[in-house]
Amino acid sequence: MANWRAIIREFFNPPIPDDIQDEYLLLSAGQLQAQSRLLFLAFMITSPMAAFAAAPDAGLWISKVVPAAMTLFCLLGYLNLRRDLRLSVSPRRAARFLRESTFASCMVAVMCSAWCVHSWLGAPEHERIYYPVIIALGAFSTAYCLSSARLGAILNLAINLIPMSVLLFTSGNRMDLAVGVCLGVAALFQLHMIHKHQKGIVHLLSLQRKTRDLALSDPLTGLLNRRALLDTALELGAQGPVRLLLIDIDHFKAINDGHGHDKGDEVLCEVAERLAIRAEISACVARIGGEEFAILGLAEDLGEGFALAVLNDIRTAAMPHGGQVTVSIGLVEGAANSEPAWRELYRRADAALYEAKQNGRNRAVHHPLTSGPTAAYESRSAA
Ligand code: GH3
Ligand code: MG
Ligand code: MG
Repeated sequence: MANWRAIIREFFNPPIPDDIQDEYLLLSAGQLQAQSRLLFLAFMITSPMAAFAAAPDAGLWISKVVPAAMTLFCLLGYLNLRRDLRLSVSPRRAARFLRESTFASCMVAVMCSAWCVHSWLGAPEHERIYYPVIIALGAFSTAYCLSSARLGAILNLAINLIPMSVLLFTSGNRMDLAVGVCLGVAALFQLHMIHKHQKGIVHLLSLQRKTRDLALSDPLTGLLNRRALLDTALELGAQGPVRLLLIDIDHFKAINDGHGHDKGDEVLCEVAERLAIRAEISACVARIGGEEFAILGLAEDLGEGFALAVLNDIRTAAMPHGGQVTVSIGLVEGAANSEPAWRELYRRADAALYEAKQNGRNRAVHHPLTSGPTAAYESRSAA
């Protein structure tokens, strides 16, 4: 029983992995906006015909009011979707758009269904078979268009086809029955295709996410890599001046030589973890080379004492090889709002790091932007 419930829940609302939820919403909303615009246009063109095609005895509401309301509704929908809804910038906005589109499509489906059912009931027998054909065309086009908003597609098929199928199955006419069966099978087939389509998109997005993660992260420590650091620098740089720390482990080669490469790797991971803990959410940490790391954040978020805190964190940490590790740091701040600005900032940080190494290691050297004196911080043991 529980299994059936899970199957039904998955059918209406398939699980989307957490790490691609946002991408999925943005993609679905973007697709839906483009397709719905065309759909509204098609409905707008065909709706006036509903006034001519309504059954003679269908009544004023069905032959005039519903077609007029449909045309107006679709015109407004079309004009709305021609605007830039800025769906690609906000997953929340995209999710709201998907919900609103589902609701709007259900409104159209209710009008179409009411029109077809009443027309069938009011039409002479030799004409009424046209109405299932008309509603099937509308229902299948709409469901295809809504394939990225699955619930909307399912509701549309149900609202459009169930009342008409009931009429077809209960009319007592052999050909109506055949049409009803074909409609049902076609609807199930389309639901299956929508399911497959959605699964395919989820699969592709997951692959894309994995590929991007691999391209932007360091496989040993899981930190950002140099390429990702550049992207982050440009993002942060657009918000204001940034502060950059280039951090190099002192005498790391000796650890490799004395304890083996694997232990060296463990030390790199430990240092990476310490840096990540220190940076928390105020800055990002990257491994930019063998035993070189970078911490980058907005200047206002990384205080004056940050470099000294990093020096102390590493020096006092228990390391996997059983010894002590120290680092040297080059520290600068400045603009990073373009690639040349970032390269210049990086060059200055590298020069500061070089000076820290030259001056004896286990220290941070700060090269301020203005031509003031160079500051140096040294990490000392409490003993
Ligand atoms: P300094 O104090 O001047 O920075 O000296 P150092 O020994 O730390 O620097 P050096 O550049 O001489 O050596 C860096 C070493 O880091 C050499 C290289 O074999 C090692 N290394 C680079 N990448 C990795 C890695 O992924 N894992 C391990 N275990 N070692 C690495
Ligand atoms: Mg180095
Ligand atoms: Mg080194």
